[in-house]
Amino acid sequence: MTKPETVIREDIRSLRAYHVAPADGLLKLDAMESPYAMPEQLTDQWLRALRDTALNRYPDASMAECSSRLAKQLNLSDQYDVLWGNGSDELIQILIQSIASNDAVVMSPTPSFVMYQVVSLWNRVQHVGIDLDENFDIDIPAWRDAIATHQPAIIFLAQPNNPTGNLFSETAVEQIIEMAPGLVVLDEAYLAYSSRDHQSYLDRYKNVVVMRTLSKEGFAGIRLGYLIAHSSWVTEFNKLRMPYNVNSLTQTTAALVLNHLSEISERAELIVEERGRLTKQLSQLGLITYPSEANFIVAKSAYLGADVVEAMKTRGVLIKSLCGSHPLLTHCVRITVSSKDDNDIMLEALEASLDALKQN
Ligand SMILES: *Cc1c(COP(=O)(O)O)cnc(C)c1O
Repeated sequence: MTKPETVIREDIRSLRAYHVAPADGLLKLDAMESPYAMPEQLTDQWLRALRDTALNRYPDASMAECSSRLAKQLNLSDQYDVLWGNGSDELIQILIQSIASNDAVVMSPTPSFVMYQVVSLWNRVQHVGIDLDENFDIDIPAWRDAIATHQPAIIFLAQPNNPTGNLFSETAVEQIIEMAPGLVVLDEAYLAYSSRDHQSYLDRYKNVVVMRTLSKEGFAGIRLGYLIAHSSWVTEFNKLRMPYNVNSLTQTTAALVLNHLSEISERAELIVEERGRLTKQLSQLGLITYPSEANFIVAKSAYLGADVVEAMKTRGVLIKSLCGSHPLLTHCVRITVSSKDDNDIMLEALEASLDALKQN
């Protein structure tokens, strides 16, 4: 009998599938989900729209309705197009596939979003990671050397960055774009919580595309991401998009959501307020916190690590340990900012867990 080891690539066999921590019965604060889903006043309208969605038909392959609503909301001029993905993860896959060849390089800061690295490996593209400095900002001399050496076809900059939560200094981002011989992808997964929007970079730079997602704003379950770029880029990427990659239920839901973005962003403001409060509370518990422009906070202390995450789990709360993922993140945890009630439960579990560990 033919076995996987005789067929599947060695580098694929040595991988481990993306691990999602079991969260049954836990308050889930490990994955930057929003506590708010569909606004209540839209629920009836949404259910009616779902009832009218023809499941026996293939989805609209061109996503005309979503595209025109988004273009209107973002004031996009004709020279730009939108590429839709089954989450922005799928867009990362399309982007990397489009440049995959023996000598192509993808570059991103480290630590940053792991999919840039993982998808590169799947496609046998070399990924070069450039370490952030101790403030989690860009080390420009290191980038200058690395860009000159490796000539990356694509550079991914998550702004704000995951898992560190910060925006890089704007001049550093601009310098990277100006030095880049290829495409620079500005990944704005956390735009709703950020003080900087890079859409205007599209007008300033021909080698920039902007990628976004609805996942961190209350719609992780529908899996919808999009990329805005000059039409000439979208024309090429579209050739690698699976036909019907965004299903009808998602399209129906998104068409409604895209008409009510102001209600959605009001909820983001609540999270931003809570982020401020939580940051203060975490400092009062003796933790170091890092400035965040996203819906999560990175906290550090000698007592933090995998054991505190385990101790919190026994108290019903799931957060993420960053220990071991990168030297800059030793003794760090990442906590999703949620509603006030959720955050209070989290703080109580954290305080109790820290007390218990300090006594040992
Ligand atoms: C969560 C996240 C994504 C992926 O989002 P999906 O649309 O859910 O696939 C992309 N980039 C960054 C930086 C993220 O944190």
